[in-house]
Amino acid sequence: AKEDGRGTIRAFDRPMAERVQARKSMKLDLEAALARNELRLVFQPLLDLGSDRIVGAEALLRWRHPVRGEVSPAEFIPLAEDTGLIVPIGEWVLSEACRHAASWPVDLTVAVNLSPAQIRDEILPLRVLAAALKAGVSPSRLEIEITESVLLHDSDRNLAILHALRTAGVRIALDDFGTGYSSLSYLRRFPFDKLKLDRCFVGDIGVSRPSEAIIRAAGEMGRALAMTTTAEGVETAEQLAWLRANGWSQAQGYHIGRPLEAPAVGALFRNLDAT
Ligand code: C2E
Ligand code: CA
Ligand code: CA
Ligand code: CA
Repeated sequence: AKEDGRGTIRAFDRPMAERVQARKSMKLDLEAALARNELRLVFQPLLDLGSDRIVGAEALLRWRHPVRGEVSPAEFIPLAEDTGLIVPIGEWVLSEACRHAASWPVDLTVAVNLSPAQIRDEILPLRVLAAALKAGVSPSRLEIEITESVLLHDSDRNLAILHALRTAGVRIALDDFGTGYSSLSYLRRFPFDKLKLDRCFVGDIGVSRPSEAIIRAAGEMGRALAMTTTAEGVETAEQLAWLRANGWSQAQGYHIGRPLEAPAVGALFRNLDAT
């Protein structure tokens, strides 16, 4: 606190200033990252519990900084959102995800995460369809993952954009379900195709009865609303068995598969096709 004297203020201010400086330099680096080919997508497989088959993958962005090495998307996505860089980066993610999906068996889907700034873009549906068309991928193989924060602002406009995408055959998933504060009202306003339960609940399976009750209820609600129910962050066989026994339709997580580099996921998917 200020009353504690100048020494304390200096001790507090210096790391603060350093953090601001670090953010500034990282912003500049991120601007160059696209052109320098430092960004890439990895793909995490998605398991269908009914058929026990891999039915697709989620594209996850990676940044290999020339000096810092791998930077977590949890760190650089917020930065990209602040600077507006998320729009060109998101555009690249869409086309790159479609380009990879084009080399997979045609019954497999690709899920792409979209930031709120991308959903506010009125021509987003056109951008998405153009990316799919250019790669020769049917829009029905594309899934868009959004969090409820997308529906917080400009919500009528954003709902119209989501409806347009859906009309074109793109599936819309509500990501990180359970972590926001008004998820249920959004479910009433928009017909999501899929509910993705946040991994913080799944980690509690076998540990916390209240969490298990919440997962059961979320699954029942998803089914009642005709949504695909997907559980994220499945790390153990026990969690997977529990989800299966409780009627969840899909699972994703390290127990099923870690995010894979594009060549590895391509090879995995070609082998699935052969069996
Ligand atoms: P998300 O969309 O919720 O993605 C799932 C995250 O959980 C990924 O982290 C994934 O690697 C991690 N994960 C998957 N299975 C497990 C598991 O079994 N255990 C644990 N502990 N973690 C697991 P990642 O790749 O670090 O991405 C973090 C977040 O960054 C994503 O969360 C998403 O919100 C955002 N993100 C990633 N790629 C993109 C992108 O292309 N565009 C946008 N707008 N956001 C992205
Ligand atoms: Ca996601
Ligand atoms: Ca998620
Ligand atoms: Ca997330």
